[in-house]
Amino acid sequence: MAGSERIQQVVVTIGRFAAWATSPETARAQARPGACDFLFGNPHEVAPAGYVEALLRGTRPAGPDHFAYTMNDPDATAVIARGLRERFSLPFRDQDVMMTNGNFAGLSILLAALTDPGDEVIFISPPWFFYETLIVAAGARAVRVHADRQTFGLDLDAVASAITPRTRAIIVNSPNNPTGRIYSGEDLAGLGALLRGASEARGRPIWLLSDEAYNRIVFDGRSFETPVACYPWSFMVYTYGKAHQAPGMRLGYIAASPQMPDADELRLPLLVAQMAAGWAFPVAPLQHAMADLDRFVVDVGRLQARRDRLVAELRGQGYELVQPEGTFYILVRSPVEDDEAFCRALAALDVLVLPGSTFEMPGWLRISVTANDDMVERALPGFARSIAEARR
Ligand code: PMP
Repeated sequence: MAGSERIQQVVVTIGRFAAWATSPETARAQARPGACDFLFGNPHEVAPAGYVEALLRGTRPAGPDHFAYTMNDPDATAVIARGLRERFSLPFRDQDVMMTNGNFAGLSILLAALTDPGDEVIFISPPWFFYETLIVAAGARAVRVHADRQTFGLDLDAVASAITPRTRAIIVNSPNNPTGRIYSGEDLAGLGALLRGASEARGRPIWLLSDEAYNRIVFDGRSFETPVACYPWSFMVYTYGKAHQAPGMRLGYIAASPQMPDADELRLPLLVAQMAAGWAFPVAPLQHAMADLDRFVVDVGRLQARRDRLVAELRGQGYELVQPEGTFYILVRSPVEDDEAFCRALAALDVLVLPGSTFEMPGWLRISVTANDDMVERALPGFARSIAEARR
């Protein structure tokens, strides 16, 4: 009835988030016409014409093979590799790029191709909800390491203590969901040195999987340094879902570090892992549109303005929060210990935010700035009323 034993174990890892995200109350609240939806980073504005036109151009057949089986389309990977060389000054080759349908797929493919049953994979907490799930689904063991509690940067001592002879990979995510933190160059250099030392000591690499879903959603003119630059046995895992604000379109890639020794030996295993994951390549029209799509980024200035409005207003109302350096998310401390109860109180006022208990941060809330400006303005009185009531 409840599926295989394996999938039951996987379900347990995502239980808390799934209970909230799939509950009938959440669905009903989202469907109300007045709903101010800060929940999941979904778009709440109609997609820009430039994006839609790029999709239409990619869909118009240029020849009989336009809709043929399409794996890593050479034109698509060439566009991406060129873009990566320009942005990161690293010598990415076309063949270092593998097309995926987003970071769910990218991470699943890498975990399937690089780990054996019982291997340990480290992830940083608070995490994106699905890391533990994807690790366990791949048959590996998930090992949780907490970020620095004050800065939300990497706690390198904690990472070092978590490494065992069975450690096969580590997932890092910068800019970070949910904390909005961008890892510093110092953190990354330290991580690179740590992983290099541990890999050399055991004579085989610990793989670094760098989830960079938000590497184009960076605020205040900050620079973003890719973790891939700090360590040769690394993979950039990228999805366009955030930069396009179109997570339903399922488009992304994996890029192997151009400094990885023997990278070409992994090409066939990774290609087969892409197929074995259920043909986890983007559909042909998306790949044909890459020249346009790789360049397209939503207006980050507008997201930043919305962040600024929410940060200033919520602080003024008495909320304690973490100002994000990038991503879609603002972390806010719940004024009462029970974050789920506080989220329910907000939801009763049509303000929908995610409780921290769903991402290993009980006592906190996560607000997504992908809500539209109208939702932000309508939500402010609800935020004010809820904190006032909580304090009474
Ligand atoms: N990683 C992180 C950090 C994310 O926030 C998300 C989406 N919320 C993903 C991966 C998954 O991205 P996609 O749905 O585009 O595969």
